[in-house]
Amino acid sequence: MNWITKVLKFGEKIKRVIKKRPSKEDIDNSDWTSCCQGPILKKELEENLFVCPSCKKHHRINCRQRFDIIFGKNNYEILQTPIPQDDPLNWVDSKSYIDRLKDARKKTAMECGVMVVATQINNIKITACASDFAFIGGSVGAAEGEAILYGIQHAIENQQPFLNFTSGGGMRMFESLIALSQMTRTTLAINELKNNNLPYLVCLTDPTAGGITASYAMLGDIAFAEPGALIAFAGKKVIQGTIKEELPEGFQKSEYVEKSGFVDLIVERKNLRERIGSILSILLKKNSAINSETNETSKDSRTLTKAAS
Ligand SMILES: [Zn+2]
Repeated sequence: MNWITKVLKFGEKIKRVIKKRPSKEDIDNSDWTSCCQGPILKKELEENLFVCPSCKKHHRINCRQRFDIIFGKNNYEILQTPIPQDDPLNWVDSKSYIDRLKDARKKTAMECGVMVVATQINNIKITACASDFAFIGGSVGAAEGEAILYGIQHAIENQQPFLNFTSGGGMRMFESLIALSQMTRTTLAINELKNNNLPYLVCLTDPTAGGITASYAMLGDIAFAEPGALIAFAGKKVIQGTIKEELPEGFQKSEYVEKSGFVDLIVERKNLRERIGSILSILLKKNSAINSETNETSKDSRTLTKAAS
């Protein structure tokens, strides 16, 4: 064997090693994912509500998984929200926005990154929405803004509380100002909810950042968060570069944000249904032992809600 064939064989070996590395799609389609203890079966994680049994990391989940866990399978009705014109700015960078949308729709089986449902919790009828981080990083464009507005309108028309599971990196840059205006639109809609004395509850999930934190994620009457969720406006590196200081351990995690008062309650995924249900019962003075008719404070079922808004 001369040196040329040796080099060629070595080249083949390298090619094989490079080929073996899984692509993003391979990882998505695999039965395995990884956490603190190395590989873990997705099935095993799912049985534990997508929470790692060892380190309690709350893994990211999609909207359907979220609603199945909180409201129960087949216990909610998905509402069709309006979809405005795709790609109004004809945005193209390394890839066109239209192609990104196509890929996201195929990957998530959703028309936009926000899903709105009519459901109930603790026998209280509510409207709820959740965001899917897998849909272009959970970013908010016109369609997502419309979905949230539609959900709030549904809540007001039916005089129901509105529950929002937030996640996402912020406003969608491919829609520029149109995306940014969703911050104002959702904020005004939430004000309408409060004018109607309807509770607005937020549950911050990993990650909630950018314009989402700067608008509807921080306007809840009560703000829940899942443990260890990233809750931020600007990224840690940006802040560190600006103030030229080391940032403390756990900076921008829900436990840290709770200490500074931006989060009211950190609730593990397995307890969310019960905690949200009991808070709503208290706010609306329904179904709860403390709300019996003999209780003097239950004269006006809306007083506490008013105080909260
Ligand atoms: Zn783990």
